[in-house]
Amino acid sequence: MKIKALKRLIYGLSAFVICFLFFSFKSQASTKTDTLVNNGFKIKTIIVDAGHGNKRPEGGRYSPGAEGAYSFERNVTLAIAQKLQAAIEKDIEGVKVIMTRTTPYDVPFQTRSDIANQNKGDLFISIHCNALPNHTVREAVGHKKGKTIYRTVSVPDHSGRGVLMLVYDTKRTGPQINALLENAEIGDNGQEAQQTKDADDPITTIMINQLKNKYRKQSIHLADLLNNEFIADGRKSEGLREQVLFVLDHTAMPSVLVETGYINNPTDEDFLNSEDGQNEIVDAIVRGIKTYKKEAEQTTE
Ligand SMILES: [Zn+2]
Repeated sequence: MKIKALKRLIYGLSAFVICFLFFSFKSQASTKTDTLVNNGFKIKTIIVDAGHGNKRPEGGRYSPGAEGAYSFERNVTLAIAQKLQAAIEKDIEGVKVIMTRTTPYDVPFQTRSDIANQNKGDLFISIHCNALPNHTVREAVGHKKGKTIYRTVSVPDHSGRGVLMLVYDTKRTGPQINALLENAEIGDNGQEAQQTKDADDPITTIMINQLKNKYRKQSIHLADLLNNEFIADGRKSEGLREQVLFVLDHTAMPSVLVETGYINNPTDEDFLNSEDGQNEIVDAIVRGIKTYKKEAEQTTE
């Protein structure tokens, strides 16, 4: 190549690079503003899930939850969930809340996630109370023929305190993938979605994995925001933990399970049962959701 031609090429290329940089900067700047107005994504439906419940009149399996000295997790979760529903609908414009349980009776896990998925929830927040299992200790009860006799006794462990955010473990498989296949909008129309609903199809697998990762990331982010609000209120926190949990494994949306406190810790139990305590918990969750919503509605991701 001749020097002249080379020079021309270099000039040409630099002009191109400059133009490219200029336009990409411009378009970046405009996408940034565009996303604020043009991105259609809005958080419209929040599923609030009150953990546990009483045995149903018709019978069947149920999950009574943990117990404190004088109160039950299933009652505390319902009280907090109902306050949370009212607060979200009052404080966050354009958002409706769907409750998975409104009566004292337990609702099966599958029904809870069906309610969430069928209502196309944008977020799923499950309310629970934590409790530590009893310790087992050996206790001397007497002597026989010069030997000490022991018995094993169960002793309550009151040492747990504060909040803990649980998000679903990434190792989740079958049921959640089915929920994603059923509820995620794969393809532009129902027919297309129907055609791609084959978990063995590599394209479906890629899309499902992308969704799983996206929901996992969003769940962790929401959990983090909620956790920060609890800490800001001065609550002790055990942070975030990933765990395999049926109710979270079956929901095809960002989901967080909030352990609002230890019901078998006397201080936490009083807090969880008090109006002030419940309102403080609800307030922290609403603030966290507001931040999450604002961010989610401003990004194109
Ligand atoms: Zn629970």
